[in-house]
Amino acid sequence: MPYPTAVLIVAAGRGERAGGAVPKQFSLLGGVAVIARAVAAFGDLPVFVVVAEGQHAALAAALGARAVSGVVIGGATRQESVRNGLAAIGEAGGADKVLVHDAARPLLPRAVLDNLIAALDTRDGAVPVLPVADSLARGDALMGETVDRAGLWRVQTPQAFRMDALMTSLSRWTGEAATDEAQVVRAAGYSVATVSGDMMLDKITHPQDFARAEALLATRMVSRSASGYDVHRLAEDEELWLGGVKIEHTHGLSGHSDADVALHAITDAVLGTIGAGDIGSHFPPSDAQWRGAASHRFLAHAAELVVAKGGIIDFIDLTLICEAPKIGPHREAMRARIAEILHLPVSRISVKATTTERLGFTGRGEGIAAQAVATVRVPEDM
Ligand code: MG
Repeated sequence: MPYPTAVLIVAAGRGERAGGAVPKQFSLLGGVAVIARAVAAFGDLPVFVVVAEGQHAALAAALGARAVSGVVIGGATRQESVRNGLAAIGEAGGADKVLVHDAARPLLPRAVLDNLIAALDTRDGAVPVLPVADSLARGDALMGETVDRAGLWRVQTPQAFRMDALMTSLSRWTGEAATDEAQVVRAAGYSVATVSGDMMLDKITHPQDFARAEALLATRMVSRSASGYDVHRLAEDEELWLGGVKIEHTHGLSGHSDADVALHAITDAVLGTIGAGDIGSHFPPSDAQWRGAASHRFLAHAAELVVAKGGIIDFIDLTLICEAPKIGPHREAMRARIAEILHLPVSRISVKATTTERLGFTGRGEGIAAQAVATVRVPEDM
């Protein structure tokens, strides 16, 4: 069965113009690799990535846990890279529609993607464009011929095509290297629509473009907070793990995993910020593999899900509720460990504790409760 829509991202650049030793598609933008952001922007669509020879390991490191449908070795030119990628999609069963995209444009608003795909209902292709705002000059910037910017457009990617139209056009193309696929498809006589592009899609070419893209990204992020709450029973002959730290105490917490009530509450708070359910839906207690599991794995997984959405964890505030043990002596160790699990500075982790004046189950020492609030920033169209 062909994919209804597949995505081809060309990430084969050596990145010389961006000035770094690391090609720009593998560099970090707001804490997430450029290529990982480009892939994540397509949501659940199958993505094929074209890299240069020798870039497999860099791609895998940049993508982390994010899966792609195929990794393809590029050619000497962009056009060859696109052809290799399309061939790989064909070998995987083909696609009715294809989006061809540059990794150097990692910030793709959902609205642009939706408009491109919708345009293919009536047209063979669709490209995002923006009007040219600046004055243009040909030759010498001050003395040269000025160019009337009316009717001039900046053409961005992704460019969307009906697969049959793109394949036919490429097979007929006999010209020099085309600037983009839209040129090839139009030359073959197919119809190509334009949809509104977005400044977010401006290409990252030079080192200063990263700062611009990060500033733009911050304006499109929204803050979200969510809470988590957990309780575990205190029992003799159990280890006591709190906030990822082992504490010597007369009793420990019992539960299916290591019963670290603090990390469980934080995990639920982090999951809540992206509406990703709760710890039990990701790590069901009925599954034997989580018996006695170290809870830092649950929290690290939740954090990875936030990063996969293009999000950033801003702050964690934890409150432990118990009569004993005293939390104060362990507070800094817990902050440090939680920060380590989340790859955050300690300054972004708060650990507090309270008793309940000997009232209720915590007051009677039957169990320990924990509540947490996580604050994150995520793309507004996530
Ligand atoms: Mg629990």
